[in-house]
Amino acid sequence: MNETRPEMHPTISTFARHDGCLHVGGVPLTRLADRVGQTPFFVYDRSLLNRRIQALRTHLPDEVALHYAIKANPMPAVVQHLAGLVDGFDVASGLELKTALDTPMPAEHIGFAGPGKSVEELAQAVAADVVIEVESLGEIGRIAELARRQRLRPRIAIRVNPDFELKGAGMRMGGGPRQFGIDAEQVPQAMIVVAHSDLEFIGFHIFAGSQNLRSDILQQVQEQTIDLAIALSQHASAPVRYLNIGGGFGIPYFTSDTPLDVHSVGKNLGRLIRERLRPALPEARVIMELGRYVVGEAGLYVTRIIDRKVSRGQIFLVTDGGLHHQLAASGNFGQLIRRNYPVAIGNRMDQPEKEKVSIVGCLCTPLDLLADREYLPTAEVGDLIVVFQSGAYGLTASPVNFLSHPLPPEILV
Ligand SMILES: *Cc1c(COP(=O)(O)O)cnc(C)c1O
Repeated sequence: MNETRPEMHPTISTFARHDGCLHVGGVPLTRLADRVGQTPFFVYDRSLLNRRIQALRTHLPDEVALHYAIKANPMPAVVQHLAGLVDGFDVASGLELKTALDTPMPAEHIGFAGPGKSVEELAQAVAADVVIEVESLGEIGRIAELARRQRLRPRIAIRVNPDFELKGAGMRMGGGPRQFGIDAEQVPQAMIVVAHSDLEFIGFHIFAGSQNLRSDILQQVQEQTIDLAIALSQHASAPVRYLNIGGGFGIPYFTSDTPLDVHSVGKNLGRLIRERLRPALPEARVIMELGRYVVGEAGLYVTRIIDRKVSRGQIFLVTDGGLHHQLAASGNFGQLIRRNYPVAIGNRMDQPEKEKVSIVGCLCTPLDLLADREYLPTAEVGDLIVVFQSGAYGLTASPVNFLSHPLPPEILV
């Protein structure tokens, strides 16, 4: 029984602690729980959002516009806060579009991407005068028809399904046959269709994948993305003024993950822009769109232990939360291997990790596992369990109606 205990996940130590209690936004977690008035809840830390954007600004080239992909966390207060820090938003639905338009962000700095935009959503986007990132020839036709009816000339960027893949990415969204974008080989034809409609072609959107922690792979993808945009621009009827090169920056979910080296990615991107992009496309505004990297580490899911039991020698801490709020932490959001998210007992941060416990939710399914046999301090009913790395694809990517529990509150501190 001489198992080695894993080291503490680095994100846990970015939060302050006093008298054994984790602090978020300068407030003890126990007091925050009282302030919210109920558990479970999500809390997002404004100062960590600020710090993250600051770090991105430091490492990315000055001329890269930084967009926030709202689908990672669409909480209106978070989006409002980020409106003052980033250069634009990426939206993927009519409601995300509304959330973005409710902020002071100018419409021309909002991009609307996503397959299967409904005619109603497209009509809203045309009326709002945001950039529409088109995903098919059919969609170009629908937008042209709406533009005629509204007597407007929407700005169009063509989302390209690249002819390369992002290797080692958590989620691939380009290369091979995909529902996203127009295949690179069909883009010249799509540009002819756009040029013959009353639509304003402004450039390209090329997004190859998500959750990448390897700077060498991201650098290679950015190089291929820029080369592809330059090659395609030779068929364009107007200068390329807009180039959304995607993002794909990952965050370390597990102790074995190494955080992304953003400095080297930024340095290499600066070189690519100077040496390759500028000579060919002098007018192109380069945009990076990031979701998870901006908000993921700034959010916690907080849930309370309501039962403690031992089943055939294994200790279970049963909480009032679960996968209906934080599906990804249960390992059921597309992960191939289930590993534990970083977790802690928020009111026992000063106590030794004495026992191996499994943390489960309150749903009637064995899938509802928030941590599997993790070393933690001895916990009791009433203690607060914290699941870190919960700021992105938490509540927004969870089956909230499953078992009909109420929605958890979300706060920004
Ligand atoms: C989901 C998505 C993003 C954000 O991805 P993250 O992994 O959260 O950074 C960016 N762009 C597009 C087109 C997306 O679909």
